[in-house]
Amino acid sequence: MRIVFIGPPGAGKGTQAKLAARSLGIPHISTGDMLRAAVAKGTAAGKDAATYMNAGKLVPDPVVLRMLEDRLKECDVAPGFILDGYPRNVDQAEALSTLTPVDRVVYFQIRLEDLLERLVERRVCPKCNSVYNLRSHPPQKAGFCDNDATPLEQRPDDRKEVVEARFRTYEEQTAPLIDHYTQKGLLVKVTAWGDPAAIQTRVLEVLRA
Ligand code: AMP
Repeated sequence: MRIVFIGPPGAGKGTQAKLAARSLGIPHISTGDMLRAAVAKGTAAGKDAATYMNAGKLVPDPVVLRMLEDRLKECDVAPGFILDGYPRNVDQAEALSTLTPVDRVVYFQIRLEDLLERLVERRVCPKCNSVYNLRSHPPQKAGFCDNDATPLEQRPDDRKEVVEARFRTYEEQTAPLIDHYTQKGLLVKVTAWGDPAAIQTRVLEVLRA
């Protein structure tokens, strides 16, 4: 199963990809997570990537492609993968097709208006990566992770002005992938609004169909 998840920022792709990868026994590959790890390490490439990420822009294609190419060579990828956050534009989709075939592309369909609040209210634990929402899923003790009591943080790219820029980037560059993969007969749609467990059931249904 070589699967790609696409959808706007905040549609829940990352959460759903983690759950589905666990159910299917294949790795979850998130280019956003890989880039954030490079930023946290403070490497030259990470510092460079952070300037794009914190402006809501895409990191240049060759940087992300190199990272992904290395990851896809690792042996855990042999039975398949869920790719979350790549491709982000049609050029990346073409580049991906030179690295590996893709069996299915799951599009997380959701209205953009519903997403701004979800992202701006998101908080993450820098230690265990747990994700909270100040309104819909707040931590038990305000400001601290339920698992390890680490102070929660806001991702720098979840600030309102950056989220708005990420939506613009999505509409201009990533949304054309919906047509691209529809034409190739690979696209399946999942309604991404509502209870995460119900969304997961829908995701597994389309993947097993
Ligand atoms: P995500 O966690 O997938 O929302 O990614 C966070 C940020 O990382 C994005 O807003 C981009 O700046 C960058 N990023 C992630 N994946 C890619 C990609 N495939 N191409 C370019 N930039 C990316």
